[in-house]
Amino acid sequence: MFKRILVANRGEIALRIMRAARELGCETVCVYSEADRDGPWLELADAKVCIGPGPSADSYLRFDRIIAAAETMEADAIHPGYGFLAENAQFNEVCNDCRIRFIGPSPEAMAALGDKIACKRLARETGTPVFPGSDGQIEDPEEAAVIAQDIGYPVIVKAAFGGGGRGMRIAHDEQELRAGIASATQEAVAAFGNGAVYVEKFLERARHVEVQCLGDDHGNAIHLYNRDCTSQRRHQKLVEEGPAPNIDQDVRDRVCESAASLIRAARYSGAATCEFLMDQQQQFYMLEVNTRVQVEHPVTEWITGVDIVKASIQVAAGEPLPVKQEDVRLNGHAIEFRINAEDPDRDFMPQAGVVDTFNVPGGFGIRVDTHVRPGYRIPPNYDSMIAKLIVHGRNREEALARARSALAEFRTGPGATTLSLHRRLIETPQFQNVDMDIHWVERWLEKQ
Ligand code: ADP
Repeated sequence: MFKRILVANRGEIALRIMRAARELGCETVCVYSEADRDGPWLELADAKVCIGPGPSADSYLRFDRIIAAAETMEADAIHPGYGFLAENAQFNEVCNDCRIRFIGPSPEAMAALGDKIACKRLARETGTPVFPGSDGQIEDPEEAAVIAQDIGYPVIVKAAFGGGGRGMRIAHDEQELRAGIASATQEAVAAFGNGAVYVEKFLERARHVEVQCLGDDHGNAIHLYNRDCTSQRRHQKLVEEGPAPNIDQDVRDRVCESAASLIRAARYSGAATCEFLMDQQQQFYMLEVNTRVQVEHPVTEWITGVDIVKASIQVAAGEPLPVKQEDVRLNGHAIEFRINAEDPDRDFMPQAGVVDTFNVPGGFGIRVDTHVRPGYRIPPNYDSMIAKLIVHGRNREEALARARSALAEFRTGPGATTLSLHRRLIETPQFQNVDMDIHWVERWLEKQ
């Protein structure tokens, strides 16, 4: 096992990683920016190192300062958490070169799955369902027009190295397709330094369903079933639950197994998530693979009993996976609500500043992952998520009742948060009856 792990992140995930590390007997070093000087999570670290001013580009994204901190503090591993450098294959490689273990996949596996075209090819080979579309990069618009005609409009043009919803264009006819290829290529060059684009079928009313996977360096790869993350706003997830409701068991098992095969084929070690869109007939199409621990991992931890963050550290240290596929059992239903410091009644305006009221719910089947306490000042520099409320019940109905009670008990102030949105959202027939697609929250908000 590692002696000392450097946590290259902040907030609730820094806390989550340090707790898992301590459980494994590892010491922790936490890096922080000047804006996070008073971050309550730093109290749990055995040592802390300031790596620069508030803006991420000057601190949490600085390879040189993070590596220097790891070397000075003699950390033998770095956990990147999610966001920041978590999916940066170059940083991963630099860690390798400096003989510091990056807690996550090898740089090669990360790069192979991070390239959406290469990932789609590998998925095809392993039987993971992908969208019909171009086999690889679009070389000229003529070729794209033939493919689009063949699969039928609407289609979507996507950047091979894209992320965050950028470098994507929807096209309903050939004219839009030609314009879309030109502008997506331009945007991809500017944003990602690589203009490669591809074309695939665009699904109109889809649910977002993803499969949590884990792999190790001994050739093992398993899945921990699925999650539904259909409730989104501007491609940002708001609510996640697992197992994904209203999916036939045989369909679910097939997709989960194919996701594990993909991870195995990539010789993947660590936590990964295969994201899919699912249509009304329960047809699945892979979107992309996230090569890191995700925000919504607690949902899966609760329904499978597997500590995903701890497992990510164990496999990075060379241990085999702590659980075999046949021992993974589904237990009940879990729902996670992202509590963001944003005002849902004022176009989700960020609410930085001091939190004076922070009353967290508790009791049976309630988990709150947060770094906030009364008196904490939310810096304006980072993601607005201040807490995750996760509830568990024997079934979805019980989890929903528990969510209703916990959301009512949770009090924050003076700034607005998304708590009020969640209280209303769980009462909608759409959420209660799983009558959802990825744009349902936006349509519902417009009518409010
Ligand atoms: P990014 O890496 O930028 O997040 P994704 O491939 O995950 O890109 O796609 C982001 C979002 O775009 C998806 O969550 C979905 O809402 C939409 N999207 C992407 N591909 C399709 C598709 N083929 N059909 C319908 N929607 C899509």
